[in-house]
Amino acid sequence: MKRICVFCGSSLGFPVIYREAAAELGKMLARKKIGLVYGGANVGIMKVLADTVLQFGGEVIGVMPQSLIDNEVAHKGLTEFHVVQSMAERKDLMVSYSDAFIAFPGGFGTLDELSEILTFNQLRITDKPIGFLNIAGYFDLLFGFIDHGVKEGFIREEHQQNLIVATDCESILSKLVDFVPVSVVKWLEDIKVESEF
Ligand code: AMP
Repeated sequence: MKRICVFCGSSLGFPVIYREAAAELGKMLARKKIGLVYGGANVGIMKVLADTVLQFGGEVIGVMPQSLIDNEVAHKGLTEFHVVQSMAERKDLMVSYSDAFIAFPGGFGTLDELSEILTFNQLRITDKPIGFLNIAGYFDLLFGFIDHGVKEGFIREEHQQNLIVATDCESILSKLVDFVPVSVVKWLEDIKVESEF
């Protein structure tokens, strides 16, 4: 695994456990020589993560739309920095540069990026693994929602089974490396049949 994209908050979060976990993840990525791909910002958890990877000699690739650079939130010291025109282009580039994804605690931006890659996998546009780093149970309510979606018939169980979850950095990295996806080849055919009710 050469590079991992981390979706994470542009805020720090209140409890220090989140920034501590971001620093631990950054250190581990650098130590394992796995490059970080992220949104390129110099704020919040994004900054903690990028700074720590750089501090420990790792590679960091940032991708940012011009509009955000104009707002002066760009990190100036990254290994590579790519300027794009839109948020959509930013997500496409982050996906193409990465071999796997980690959702780290964050807000709407993190959820947006996460939803896009979950949907890409569901539609088989990519098959790169996605892991949730569930620090302090941050994603528990989202997992509850996903359970509800499966129970109510809006999320397929196979897609739920393809989600990788860990509560610490070492396990999320090894689970991403070992991941073998549950086959979901037939589901587009299945939903056509199910729709003929
Ligand atoms: P959020 O989770 O709402 O804090 O948003 C974080 C995610 O959305 C990051 O992974 C970024 O790609 C993007 N994003 C949101 N706000 C910013 C910002 N101020 N600067 C850079 N990227 C941001």
